[in-house]
Amino acid sequence: MSFKNSPVLVVHGGAWAIPEDMLEAHRRGVAAALSAGYHLLERGASAVDAVETAVSILEDDETFDAGRGSFLTSDGRVQMDALLMDGGTLRAGGVACVERIRNPIRAARLVLDKSPHVYFVADGAEAFAQANGMPLIDNQELVLERERERLRQAQDELRQGVADATFSGRAERFSGELLSHDTVGAVALDAHGNLAAGTSTGGTLNKAPGRVGDSSLIGCGCYADNLSAAVSLTGWGEPIMKLVLGKWAVDRVQQGTPPARAAEEAIAYLFHRLGGYGGIILLGPAGRVGVAHNTPHMAWGVQSSRGVEVHTEQA
Ligand code: ASP
Repeated sequence: MSFKNSPVLVVHGGAWAIPEDMLEAHRRGVAAALSAGYHLLERGASAVDAVETAVSILEDDETFDAGRGSFLTSDGRVQMDALLMDGGTLRAGGVACVERIRNPIRAARLVLDKSPHVYFVADGAEAFAQANGMPLIDNQELVLERERERLRQAQDELRQGVADATFSGRAERFSGELLSHDTVGAVALDAHGNLAAGTSTGGTLNKAPGRVGDSSLIGCGCYADNLSAAVSLTGWGEPIMKLVLGKWAVDRVQQGTPPARAAEEAIAYLFHRLGGYGGIILLGPAGRVGVAHNTPHMAWGVQSSRGVEVHTEQA
């Protein structure tokens, strides 16, 4: 795919075995995020603005594991992580383990815009967001009954010994509810030639309180640099972190590998090196797009001057 000299927006809503009856909700969510973000890009808005808007729409959609509707920690709370990065300036803003913020990507934007620091966690992140005008909410507003039930089921399975403690790793399987990766992300190229990337997540089901995955870690689940590419990943976070896979992929593009091939190579590397599963969206500075996953489904879409595409199947 090549969309030179005009804006491009790519978004994803996770990579896993999305059950048949949830495919349409994933497609709708991806389409809504594309439409809002691309509308901004068409009017000359920055890639950072478009990514922030697209990701916040996916956070507000309870279909996805981000914002309200996130997976719960082992003690029943929503704890979220997000990163936003501007490829033009290399400014980045990250938050992790936030519990009282409706849209973590908007808190990440505040960090990017208003702080000399790059990354805040937990209470410190919430205090920073509040000091910069963001109202804090009660964590229970983010918790769905659907997720309480899912956690109960997962913990029952653990007690019965049918799953491992992380619901991933050796027990990774695509049939049941155990393994779902519904993290959201976006990458954009704006009319001025700048790239941006954002990723937001509620993390993994039954995670230990305080656990942080790849999504918000710079160079792991998210990265953007005009000199290389913009990337957002989803999947089993620990292997992605160990490989610093986002940076690995954008470096490939900088060295001349087309984004489509770099995306395939990144997911192959994830699997062959550490047995990991996941999905990637990658956007080069000339507007070339790469998407790959080694899960049965990945919810993703792309919008450019050539139109809109939304997929939940093989890239
Ligand atoms: N990568 C996320 C994490 O490990 C999960 C996901 O992509 O759904 O926190």
